[in-house]
Amino acid sequence: MRIGRIVFTLMCSGVVAAALFAQAGAQAVETYKDPKAPVEQRVADALSRMTLEEKVSMLSGSGWMESTGVPQLGIPEIKMSDGPMGIRNWTGPSAETSVEGAARKFNSTAFPAGIDIAASWDTSLAREEGRVIGEEVAAAGRDMILGPTVNIQRTPLWGRNFESYGEDPFLAGKMAVAYIRGVQGEGVIPSVKHFVANNEEFERHRIDVEVSERALHEIYYPAFEAAIKEGHVWAVMSSYNKVNGVHAAESPLLKHALYQEFAFKGFVISDWGSTYSTAGTVNAGMDLEMPGGPPMQRWLARPNAKDSGNDGGYLVPEKVLPLVKDGTIPVANVDNNVGRILTVIFESGIFDHPHAGGAAIDTAAQRAVARKAADEGMVLLKNENHVLPLDLHELHSIAVIGPNAANARVGGGGSGLVYNKDVVSPLDGIKPRAGEVKVRYALGVAMPGEQAPEAAATPQRLLDEAVAAAKESDVALVFVGYAWKLETEGKDRPSMDLPEGQDELIRAVAAVNKKTIVVFNAGGSVGLMKWIDQVPGVIDGWYGGEEGGNAVADLLFGDVNPSGKLPFTFLRRIEDSPSYGNYPGENLKVKYAEGIYVGYRYFDKHYEATPLFPFGFGLSYTKFAYSKLHIPKTMTGDATATVSVVVRNTGTRKGAEVAQMYIADPSATVDRPVRELKGFERVELAPGESKTVTFQIDRRALSFYSQETHGWMAQPGRFEVYVGSSSRNLPLHGVFNLEK
Ligand code: BGC
Repeated sequence: MRIGRIVFTLMCSGVVAAALFAQAGAQAVETYKDPKAPVEQRVADALSRMTLEEKVSMLSGSGWMESTGVPQLGIPEIKMSDGPMGIRNWTGPSAETSVEGAARKFNSTAFPAGIDIAASWDTSLAREEGRVIGEEVAAAGRDMILGPTVNIQRTPLWGRNFESYGEDPFLAGKMAVAYIRGVQGEGVIPSVKHFVANNEEFERHRIDVEVSERALHEIYYPAFEAAIKEGHVWAVMSSYNKVNGVHAAESPLLKHALYQEFAFKGFVISDWGSTYSTAGTVNAGMDLEMPGGPPMQRWLARPNAKDSGNDGGYLVPEKVLPLVKDGTIPVANVDNNVGRILTVIFESGIFDHPHAGGAAIDTAAQRAVARKAADEGMVLLKNENHVLPLDLHELHSIAVIGPNAANARVGGGGSGLVYNKDVVSPLDGIKPRAGEVKVRYALGVAMPGEQAPEAAATPQRLLDEAVAAAKESDVALVFVGYAWKLETEGKDRPSMDLPEGQDELIRAVAAVNKKTIVVFNAGGSVGLMKWIDQVPGVIDGWYGGEEGGNAVADLLFGDVNPSGKLPFTFLRRIEDSPSYGNYPGENLKVKYAEGIYVGYRYFDKHYEATPLFPFGFGLSYTKFAYSKLHIPKTMTGDATATVSVVVRNTGTRKGAEVAQMYIADPSATVDRPVRELKGFERVELAPGESKTVTFQIDRRALSFYSQETHGWMAQPGRFEVYVGSSSRNLPLHGVFNLEK
């Protein structure tokens, strides 16, 4: 018996005593194995039975995607899978995780990119996506999904914009909470990532982000805070970058923000190869270093491994144990860290009900959720003269053109890319719908890095074929944008420009066909200025997952009414970005000089820099009217106030609207954004139908973060409430008073 050797500082002594008592009194079932015992008691009991060596072994992984278990006690390893947009394409222990190299491929549902989900502004959809992903992870016999990604879109060039939820912390937080609830409801562990200020890929292992305490609290923390406080998330992944001089995995922010301010009870997992010290990391409360075991050794041994800035291998027992023995790492810290991992192992149910796996994956029902997500997320940006939806009865021919027409651009690149062999390209989605209508296909231009199908196809010939197809057809649909090799984790996009030849293709097609509609795939703003005035229709198609092609056809032919809204401000040019001049940084330092003025907060303050499309914007085939704003006249103390508004579908098609509520504090004595999103609701309405939408305002919604008091403050006085369909279309406006 190893009882009594442990002082587990996380738990109060009463809990420890209870655990020990329970253990001594009931030999039959050890407390830690008893599903009915409170989790704290189980953790204390398990810890009390572990040697220091066993505990320390749990601080690092055993494989590429597996934590270390304690088989003697039946404590399982946590089996992970990448995400967040579905399960990456492999299962089981694997040292290979690249898309092409994966040892075992299986079809898992490839959901649309995170930015697409955010553009739906539909929290029930995000929850449903999380549920399906949880279901699939369990069916694959795994325990954890490495997502959601909630880092804020600070620059349109960030290579991972597609994975994340856009520029607004409130929206990102709500989507994350919904996804987390869905995943955790299946007994699967999500991991909200990457904490924190991981907003560019440029030198991601070495870049040092200089960011103010206020910007952290108002912009970069809130999605993590919501994930913890509202979503009760079981794991947080630390990021590669440094924050204010210290690598995230050993940053004091773990303690200050996660554990103290947000009262996080789960564990922190490192990003892959993002640890850079032993004692500093353990003592900071970074609980689990990944990857580990032989894959980690192989990875570190590869030529020039250190040149990439990738590091790791610091929390292995050989390195940790001597430092525990000499007191550099207090045993209490090891107990805290291991205790948090154990807490999640018990809390999530993976100890009591291991995921045996074997259930079907990528079922019709699961695919249907991916289709709904793609349907809801796409944003109709331009629809001059109601060129859309297309009426098949009025058409004889359609030209389907572009490098993203016959090739399904399911997701961006990197750890988030999901392999699925049953993917639907736009051409696949359009053809079966067209019926009698002739569909002409032309590549137009090859995607950089991809071969045109025939070697003889010169760029000029490809362009000529596309122009000819467009000229002969009633409508030209041009599918352009990026592909996963061009918009990916690990590198930022070099500019906002579309890949080579695409602007020219669009212009050439538009010159011969007045009904040219452009659909593009990208995770952030791209340059549309070179041709947007020449085409009547534009759709932001994000990366639509495996059902993206069907979804785009749903929208084009009007089977689905577009309802997506931009989760970021769409820029005209890169020079307009609030981060311009402070991206990617100099000498491996990037100053977040814009502070809290990210996205629309910046554009609203500096009205002269007009966005091409504002945050929250998206067109529909129907129209909506807002009326009857109701706001209580006063709000006191910590009470919450309810705001209500009536939204009516005044058009002739059913559709969905996202009602958005923004709050302003015009009499603030500190510098504050003009207004900030503090509520939203997606409502589906039949023609003529009205619904009342309600929003809750709590004190936090009125507060700013004070660097003087190091806390949130709401100043009594007059507040303004704005409600409408985008950050720049807010027809309803009212005021209320915050009393002390
Ligand atoms: C990414 C993480 C990912 C991990 C495991 C890292 O490179 O930044 O988001 O979960 O790899 O694949």
